[in-house]
Amino acid sequence: MSRANLVGLLPSELEDLAVELGASRYRGRQLATWMYRKSVFDLEAMTDLPRDFRQALAESAVVEVPEPEREMPSADGSRKLVFVLNGGSRISSVLMPDDERITLCVSTQVGCGFACGFCLTGVMGLERNLTAGEIVGQILAANRLLEEGRRATHIVFMGMGEPLANYAALVKAVRILTDPKLGVGYSPRRITVSTVGLVPGIDKLGREDLKVNLAISLHATTDEVRTRLMPVNRSFDLAALMAAVKRYPLASRQRVFFEYVMLEDVNDTVEDAQRLVRLLRGVKAKVNLIPFNDWEGARFRRPPLARILAFQSVLLGAGITTTVRWSKGEDIGAACGQLREPSAVATVRAG
Ligand code: SAH
Repeated sequence: MSRANLVGLLPSELEDLAVELGASRYRGRQLATWMYRKSVFDLEAMTDLPRDFRQALAESAVVEVPEPEREMPSADGSRKLVFVLNGGSRISSVLMPDDERITLCVSTQVGCGFACGFCLTGVMGLERNLTAGEIVGQILAANRLLEEGRRATHIVFMGMGEPLANYAALVKAVRILTDPKLGVGYSPRRITVSTVGLVPGIDKLGREDLKVNLAISLHATTDEVRTRLMPVNRSFDLAALMAAVKRYPLASRQRVFFEYVMLEDVNDTVEDAQRLVRLLRGVKAKVNLIPFNDWEGARFRRPPLARILAFQSVLLGAGITTTVRWSKGEDIGAACGQLREPSAVATVRAG
């Protein structure tokens, strides 16, 4: 049987484990501090843990943080990290520095089952969910690659996969990241969970009281167009989605983010922008327009800049904060919707 990975256990679970191994809960808290606060993953280096406790841990568990197999730097300063997981699947995370801010984009699944027409990850289909340890591991591993004393300042669940379709592992990972004393120490306001619009998941997330930011991949303003782009819209249409968004609990200055990928002649007209304004009425919203990132075989095009700016100005004119997000890492296949990593198993067979 494979030994359990301690990375991915909640601090409270580490306390329970310590008790199971005949030590006090305090030893579990020390263990959490070493891994999550100090980024030390070698049991031998955890010098204030009694030797017999370390021995018992080493016999029953491992401390595993994924090593990046490849690190691809982009001309724009972002870096794509490719990880090989147990079993041979590959996933990627993307580090995106911007002055003092360093945003880390992490994956929650290998592949994705939602098949949005414009997204390359969707072409893969869903291979499997990531564990909480594999999700937290991406963050710990990425932070280790930064210079001494620096770490990602913001975390976005916008890599491969649909976070709310891997709900339990996502929530566990967020709790480990945000536990104020024994976790990795992130403020929930610097964490954003992005979804295709799974209404029951949005409601459930709202009830967890995690206080993380919610991002909705909207991409269209009519059900007809949205269903064409995103099959999930058949299950949860725009009315149901917007109702769930309005129920999501927000702190006083918090807003819901809306992602809108701009596709030429599909969703990029001034009328679309006006419909979007109406859709967002009564919602504390911030809109991110993402000019479509091309991939081989895609059936869409990026609109000309003038169209994107005209769309943006309608929203700005209505008082809606709207930015155009020029994706990072387009040259290395790290931009929004470009993540697809062949599994290591397949590569070995082919080679
Ligand atoms: N499944 C979640 C998390 C992925 S987020 C979600 O859909 O929200 C990745 C973001 O990039 C989503 O908003 C997605 O719609 C967008 N995207 C996908 N393919 C894209 C492409 N080719 N160009 C630009 N944005 C894209």
